[in-house]
Amino acid sequence: MALKYCQGPDCHTYTTQDRLKGMKGSKTYQTRRKSSFYYGDGNFCDMRCQSDWFNKYGDQAINHFGRLKEVKHLTEKNAWDKRYRWDYERNNGESEHYYLNTITREQRPLTEEQYRDNNYTLNER
Ligand SMILES: [Zn+2]
Repeated sequence: MALKYCQGPDCHTYTTQDRLKGMKGSKTYQTRRKSSFYYGDGNFCDMRCQSDWFNKYGDQAINHFGRLKEVKHLTEKNAWDKRYRWDYERNNGESEHYYLNTITREQRPLTEEQYRDNNYTLNER
């Protein structure tokens, strides 16, 4: 598997032993390389490198992909949130799945299948 490079602009400046590589007399601190990273959608070795990238490029990236210029609204029509609860006395140890409208607090029953189906929704898209 190809190695990925941490995209943190200052990754090589953090002087940890795992970054120090090379032959004696010509050692350098280097950008971390791994087959996979856990941060920033697999692009960064740690939170610090992810933050460094955002601090340096975040503003440009937001402008490039579209800066939000007005308030967004979550309305009653798309405030349905899938939930589940355990109620040992009522359901014999079975979990109960339901939809909760986080604005009106209305609840509607859900089957477990509907709960797990990422395409099933009461929300208007
Ligand atoms: Zn890094």
